[in-house]
Amino acid sequence: MVYQIDKNICVSCGACAGNCPVLAIEQKDDKYEINANICVSCGACESTCPVSAIFQK
Ligand code: SF4
Ligand code: SF4
Repeated sequence: MVYQIDKNICVSCGACAGNCPVLAIEQKDDKYEINANICVSCGACESTCPVSAIFQK
């Protein structure tokens, strides 16, 4: 299971990036993306997102 950010829901607040222990969330242009090669699926970002834009796939 990998975590992903729904770009249509994300409001680019940056909260998730600051809470990722392995710095897997990168800002690209105006949006944030989870680098699946770095993510360790800890789930910390999911509970941090104020608009529930992060989900498991
Ligand atoms: S699940 Fe954990 S490791 Fe993966 S992006 Fe979210 S906070 Fe980072
Ligand atoms: S915490 Fe949620 S709204 Fe904020 S940048 Fe991350 S995914 Fe987007």
